[in-house]
Amino acid sequence: MPELPEVETVRRGLQPALEGARLERVEARRPDLRFPLPDGFVQRLTGARVQGLERRAKYLLARLDRGDTLVMHLGMTGRFEIEGSDRSRPGVFRQPASTEDKHAHIVFETDTGRRITYFDARRFGYMDLLPTATLTEHSWFAGLGPEPLGPDFDAVHLEAAFAGKIQNIKATLLDQRVVAGLGNIYVCEALHRARISPFTAAGRISRMRLERLTETVREVLEEAIKAGGSTLRDYAAADGALGYFQHAFRVYGREGEPCLRAGCKGVVRRTVQAGRSTFYCPVCQR
Ligand code: ZN
Repeated sequence: MPELPEVETVRRGLQPALEGARLERVEARRPDLRFPLPDGFVQRLTGARVQGLERRAKYLLARLDRGDTLVMHLGMTGRFEIEGSDRSRPGVFRQPASTEDKHAHIVFETDTGRRITYFDARRFGYMDLLPTATLTEHSWFAGLGPEPLGPDFDAVHLEAAFAGKIQNIKATLLDQRVVAGLGNIYVCEALHRARISPFTAAGRISRMRLERLTETVREVLEEAIKAGGSTLRDYAAADGALGYFQHAFRVYGREGEPCLRAGCKGVVRRTVQAGRSTFYCPVCQR
């Protein structure tokens, strides 16, 4: 499933093709993805100019000049392909002419000559058109915590959010009200780097350790974005040329293997917390 770094990677890839461009032709090859497309989807998009392409949690937000925002979620297998340019290819790992593919569901053609196709084999992704002015009040966005890469995610915020919490830090960091869109893989990695045990009660972690934790959260996300997103490597196998999507995790998926922290003789363990796998080192994470 695409996590925040993958979605950000896709956003950065789409941005040059979409921002400032007018959507000259829009094609919806089916009436629904995970949910039905909104009424008048094609008509409301055709002719609109994209003023900006942003991200909130794992949603892509294309702000249109008509007062609506096109909200896009990649679900499990959603991805975009851009034709008409070989500079920007976010998650594009197929041969040309793949728009004939039965999983090519939505096509956007811009006045700058780009064709952007949305593919989604399992169709857990979705798109909607929402009024920009009230976007933050929509149920998908209301109550979301700060962006982990944004200026509001800091130790002061975490200290307030964790105050009095006896729930473990691992599950607490997956709570979208605490921080938006930080996925399971990156919580495990950030806790390992901060040397914090996933079992520690969130409310008992010192301010100094929370400061370190906000740094490690940013580090793991930024490294993954730099590497091009971790799960996109699945697509790379299709043409073999995109090895740079490989991203090495220090604990995630490494049960039974030695801890990679210099000088630590621990062995990575896996446990399940709140229904999700946690990978951690019982020696250096306390
Ligand atoms: Zn260790």
